[in-house]
Amino acid sequence: MSHATGLKYLKGGVLPHMWCAGCGIGTMLGSLLRACEELDYSNEDTVVVTGIGCTGKADDYLVTNALHTTHGRALAFATGIKAFNPKLNVVVIMGDGDGVTIGGNHFIHAARRNMDLTAVVLNNMNYGMTGGQVSGTTPEWTFTSTTAYGNPERGFDICALAEAAGANYVARETTCNGLKLKKNMKQALRKKGFSLVEVISPCPTHFGRRNDMKETGAMLRWLKDLSIPVERYRAMKEEERGRYFPVGTLVDRDDPGFNERYARVCEAARKG
Ligand code: SF4
Repeated sequence: MSHATGLKYLKGGVLPHMWCAGCGIGTMLGSLLRACEELDYSNEDTVVVTGIGCTGKADDYLVTNALHTTHGRALAFATGIKAFNPKLNVVVIMGDGDGVTIGGNHFIHAARRNMDLTAVVLNNMNYGMTGGQVSGTTPEWTFTSTTAYGNPERGFDICALAEAAGANYVARETTCNGLKLKKNMKQALRKKGFSLVEVISPCPTHFGRRNDMKETGAMLRWLKDLSIPVERYRAMKEEERGRYFPVGTLVDRDDPGFNERYARVCEAARKG
């Protein structure tokens, strides 16, 4: 039985944190740090790269190496870090607005390159920090501060996007189950090439409040009811799927990652 706490990565003296009561970011971060500890990651060899937004504040609380970057660009910075020093464990923590709405293009190309890093995208279905505006993952016909009569757009399927672009590992979980989340994080961190863990999370302050789920418990129940283990989801007929979404490991393959491919280029250049 593991007793990993993740505490060795947490900065002392910075509490209380800035996240609202009931927010899922703490569960995501706790699962990630426990996974890092179980894999024996040292603080010195681990780099956490973040973008902007509530999720992007995660690095404020860490004593790993950390880089707080510009909105939507965390994966571009992380790509440079990993290409320069492949020995580092590079983890990128982003929200849905940051990671796949403003940063959608960087996300596609990091997956296409099969860049050897782990992206954790916390999907709370809106831009939390700036007031709950619609994002690229807001489900259609739900309410946000900028879609007061319902969102007419379709929400992005982040996992399908990563799979189509070439990621080696793709998993999705909700913050209802920290243990499963930690298991997926560990698999993602171990994987060579681009790995993604999408973490579906409550934002009770904005998304929940505007969608008849004022209490965190209601939002967690909603997420739990909609999440279906991937094997069961794949057996469902198309017309039964509706708003349900699959959770678990969705993609697990071993195509060569960027660093392996780039080593070939370096070798060719060395030989002239
Ligand atoms: Fe979390 Fe939403 Fe509060 Fe941001 S606004 S800390 S995402 S609950």
